[in-house]
Amino acid sequence: ERIAGEQSEYELDTTGPALKRDPNKCILCGRCVRICEEVQGVSALQFTQRGFDSIVTTAFDLPQAEINCVNCGQCATVCPVGAITELSEIEKVWAALEDDSKHVLVQTAPSIQATLGEEFEMETGTVVTGKMVAALRRMGFDKVFSTDFGADLTILEEGSEFLKKLNGEGELPHITSCCPGWVKGAEHNFPDLLKHLSSAKSPMQMFSALSKTYYPDQTGVDPETIYTVAVMPCTAKKFEKDREEINGSDFKDTDAVLTTREFARMIKEMGINFTALPDEDFDELMGESTGAGTIFGTTGGVAEAAVRTVKEKLTGEPLERLNLGFRGINRAEVRIGDRIVKVGIANGFKNAQKLLERVRAGECDLDFIEIMACPHGCVGGGGQPRPATNEKK
Ligand code: SF4
Repeated sequence: ERIAGEQSEYELDTTGPALKRDPNKCILCGRCVRICEEVQGVSALQFTQRGFDSIVTTAFDLPQAEINCVNCGQCATVCPVGAITELSEIEKVWAALEDDSKHVLVQTAPSIQATLGEEFEMETGTVVTGKMVAALRRMGFDKVFSTDFGADLTILEEGSEFLKKLNGEGELPHITSCCPGWVKGAEHNFPDLLKHLSSAKSPMQMFSALSKTYYPDQTGVDPETIYTVAVMPCTAKKFEKDREEINGSDFKDTDAVLTTREFARMIKEMGINFTALPDEDFDELMGESTGAGTIFGTTGGVAEAAVRTVKEKLTGEPLERLNLGFRGINRAEVRIGDRIVKVGIANGFKNAQKLLERVRAGECDLDFIEIMACPHGCVGGGGQPRPATNEKK
């Protein structure tokens, strides 16, 4: 009680673009500080002494929106008391679903289908795609689509751009840009390397722009009435959707982002018996995709999909599996025609920084680099079920 009382005396702006902190709930366990510093290498949070007490705060008590936080949300996954959580958009989405004048579309990211089941006491890794689609229909969404559709488009863009750079138009290494946590980290820490980042939007934003342009063209639905929700493994996507420069449809491309945890909470609020749901398919038009989009959900997947696209375009031959695996930094070499293409991945922001220091120093011979801000990529994202959900089992 004393700690709670002391902390609430300080008027801290603890709400950021993707996450919010409640100092009154904090028990000073330090898990958020450690994961931010030791695992992610960001150090956006720290212990600060106030009189006889410590509090967790940002450097100089700056507002969350003004610090070097990459919004990856790893702090929220380890907080045992809910003192750090995603900025919830559940109420906004319920309001849209209850508004008869709105045509509400939803897209789900590839990794959700392998993690959502954990929130319903299912075995880790159980694929629940059909039940997830069925739950979204029962919640009232007018169309249920897959972000894999957007991921396929991202790969075509990113692959074509990489091909141009291989042919001398632009600087190598070509670095992925689909992770908004990594992009914000690059802006803070590696502004000199931004020219290496792909200009392709993330799959979520590509899908959302099409949901307000291509979708109404094909269906006749008034784009003014379309409300697009994205279910993501990610807290940084909440920040990404509000970036002014990224909206391209003349409307707000993505209206709301729900994390996997928020989505599960809504299913529970509805009283849906998730495990008993039948399997249903995504809606057509923007619900179909290839395997390239699906592997975006895990580390190495974007690199593999991009190099596969380039190899097939140039030689007509399929790519053997790259198996870049779950190591922090890994590399592989692929023969494409008479050239050896060197591909690397870094997962987790700390590993990304180590690899990029080598790029900066001119000591890196890689042609293509995939960077994901979260350990193991989006399957380990900051919006995924908390490990505690499994510990309960
Ligand atoms: Fe979001 Fe995935 Fe990047 Fe993590 S790795 S910040 S979940 S896009």
